[in-house]
Amino acid sequence: MAKVRLEDIKRRFNNVTAIEDITFEIPDGEFWVLVGPSGCGKSTILRTIAGLETATSGKLFIGEQLVNNVPARQRDVAMVFQNYALYPHMTVAQNIAFGLQMRKVDQRIIQERVVNVARSLSLEHLLDRKPKQLSGGQQQRVALGRAIAREPQVFLLDEPLSNLDAQLRDDTRAELKQLHHQLGITTIYVTHDQVEAMTLADKIVVLNRGRIQQIGDPQTIYAHPANEMVATFLGSPPMNILPAIYKNNAFDVNGQLLAIPANVAKSVHLPQGQNVDLGIRPENIYINEPHRYREHGEGELGELVVDVKVVEPLGRETLIRTGLPGSSVLVNVQVGGDVRLRLGDRLSLQLDLNHLFVFDSVTGDRLY
Ligand code: ATP
Repeated sequence: MAKVRLEDIKRRFNNVTAIEDITFEIPDGEFWVLVGPSGCGKSTILRTIAGLETATSGKLFIGEQLVNNVPARQRDVAMVFQNYALYPHMTVAQNIAFGLQMRKVDQRIIQERVVNVARSLSLEHLLDRKPKQLSGGQQQRVALGRAIAREPQVFLLDEPLSNLDAQLRDDTRAELKQLHHQLGITTIYVTHDQVEAMTLADKIVVLNRGRIQQIGDPQTIYAHPANEMVATFLGSPPMNILPAIYKNNAFDVNGQLLAIPANVAKSVHLPQGQNVDLGIRPENIYINEPHRYREHGEGELGELVVDVKVVEPLGRETLIRTGLPGSSVLVNVQVGGDVRLRLGDRLSLQLDLNHLFVFDSVTGDRLY
């Protein structure tokens, strides 16, 4: 196991800067997730750590060693990709043992490791099968097993679950978390799936356009996003964004006024006429559910009139997609499962203003 430190890493491809200003240190044994939209530079960072890409500038340390010029195979890292390529002519056991055979590890130790790895990934009963006799999820577990068997100092995973169907993805995600708990190997995991990021990570690194937006544990990032990009990226359904104009101690949201909550007024000083983006999560909006608000709500309420566009019952909860009349702004609301509404109904939403975020509408920086 080892810590991993990136110091001001930059990677350019001809005149395209894929990543820049990438600085962080992952302590020994932690599970970090790099997350962000397509093209934000996640894979480039991971491949740079693996030694499959070379940084244009900056320093990369694994443990105490500067590894910029150390070839991939000498870095003692194991990488698992989305399209896990198993050797088709080998059995599961041979696939898991492959890296160890190459390193000429003692046969007895290989045997022992294969059995242990197979046990921790529930593959014991499949050891004699060939990859084509396995399901996608089982194949992916073998790919993980092959990487684990090498007992690397660092484990690099690039969207390892994205080829699995939803149920299997959930199960394998939980197994991965358990496995990390057992093995304690420093792990860096790349995904564009915010649910994977939230559920797996000790720390999340949110990236956008090649730059770090925020680093923090999942709860902190969810509760205190640094900017509008982070706020809308983490959370499902995502945070609602309402363009508004500051006027006379109120936010004008397409002609409807929301009084500025006391806590916002105290710490944000906006010029008259300033454009802002207000953010509020679907679970902080209520519709005629006084009991639910009493349980969960904390502060001042603001009211917005909307029209119901789509009602999606999800069992325990219902997601209601609404729109501000006369505008294209949508407001998603997550309410109890027993709510009965029809398309076109006009509703008054109660916004829990203690959970209101205010963003600069130009830079996306969080003002409150
Ligand atoms: P995805 O989720 O789609 O895999 P990503 O966040 O992993 O995306 P990267 O693959 O790291 O993103 O790519 C970051 C940027 O660098 C993109 O703009 C991409 O087009 C560019 N890029 C990556 N590899 C190369 C390359 N070999 N040559 C030129 N540009 C590249």
